[in-house]
Amino acid sequence: MNMRHETFDAIVVGARVAGAATAMLLARGGARVLLVDSADRIGDTMSTHALMRPAVTLLDRWGLAERLVSEGTAVVTRTSFQYGRERIEIPMKPVGALPGLISPRRWLLDPMLLEAAVAAGADLRLSTAFEGVTTGPDGTVTGAILRNRLGQSQTVRCRLLVGADGRLSRVAAAVSAAMLEVTPRGAATIYGYVDGLPNEGNRWMFSPGLQAGLIPTTAGLHCVFASCPQGDFRARFAPDALAGLVAAIAVTDQEVAAHIACTGPVERLTRFAGAPGHIRAAAGKGWALVGDAGYFKDPATAHGISDALLDAHRLAAAVFGAGLRAYVQSRNAHGFEFLQLTAKIGAMDWPLDVLKVHHQRLSSIINAESAELADTADLRAAA
Ligand SMILES: Cc1cc2nc3c(=O)[nH]c(=O)nc-3n(C[C@H](O)[C@H](O)[C@H](O)COP(=O)(O)OP(=O)(O)OC[C@H]3O[C@@H](n4cnc5c(N)ncnc54)[C@H](O)[C@@H]3O)c2cc1C
Repeated sequence: MNMRHETFDAIVVGARVAGAATAMLLARGGARVLLVDSADRIGDTMSTHALMRPAVTLLDRWGLAERLVSEGTAVVTRTSFQYGRERIEIPMKPVGALPGLISPRRWLLDPMLLEAAVAAGADLRLSTAFEGVTTGPDGTVTGAILRNRLGQSQTVRCRLLVGADGRLSRVAAAVSAAMLEVTPRGAATIYGYVDGLPNEGNRWMFSPGLQAGLIPTTAGLHCVFASCPQGDFRARFAPDALAGLVAAIAVTDQEVAAHIACTGPVERLTRFAGAPGHIRAAAGKGWALVGDAGYFKDPATAHGISDALLDAHRLAAAVFGAGLRAYVQSRNAHGFEFLQLTAKIGAMDWPLDVLKVHHQRLSSIINAESAELADTADLRAAA
């Protein structure tokens, strides 16, 4: 197909949580949207899955939360934070018809958002890589250069180019998005999935130099993870990764650790070596960044998916409302403080009483994000 003369209201590059949600909302609002991804399919990806309240609120509003549950995702009605021997239990409030929060597997969440984007009318092209931009005389982005699965390069015009292409965003580079703040590479993480754990609710466990947790996810499995400073990772996990994970959980809960040691993970354990955090300019002339492309944080605060969905919501609201400046303001309102708090938590050199204060501040920011959502409406599923 010759796409040289095609024009879209928006081209969204990257079809995972940030891009699929953005494309869905723009298409639901009546925009003509092209959604591209260099991958040939959208399946599983690296994640420990925990969603914060704003993310579940948005999924509920978009008509997807109950579907995620009907596809086998656990609903958790409490969470606990354990600081050494001190355990703090927090009951969760309902979200819409759900009694609590959910943490769906990415092989379920990302394709479901993608399907919703396509159902809303977005034109999806997989195996299609973004390679560069075209600009007008004043530097405004006017289109994207895309390479399709046959290796053919095509220029497609658009009024808005959205970079949802992840941490190493090529869109950010092509539009010269300013890097506003960078934080050092944080903790290293290992995680896997365990069946039939004797546990209820999300559990976050902290001891000096170690963070671990249990997150009920999809298909009866828990995501079990542990993070530690880079320098400790080899000693803890290289000789025997499963034994290291079991030992990290055993610091807090020996019964659960014994279960993990006995049954083992159902899939290979995954390692993440850590990466620097960043916050880039959220938007410029004819372009915007959503999700990790604009704002990446260490997984220590488990807020990347929530931010990706919030970005989608905020950008769509700005496009149909007050304009890109409003998106920049809303994305940045708490972004810098959250990034810094995440860097402090990801550094893993905290005394437990200081960590608790960081968590209390994070919780206030998440409450503020929920309050922001209460003030804004979104386009619900047409169905
Ligand atoms: C170990 C780990 C654990 C995590 N745990 C959690 C958690 O518990 N909770 C949480 O909220 N977050 C967590 N996160 C963060 C979360 O996974 C990310 O924030 C989220 O995946 C970002 O989504 P995204 O859509 O912005 O980008 P991505 O998921 O990176 O998707 C980007 C897409 O862009 C496509 N792409 C890239 N380049 C191009 C190109 N040139 N052309 C076309 N397409 C392109 C890619 O193929 C990809 O599909 C974790 C991250 C890690 C590493």
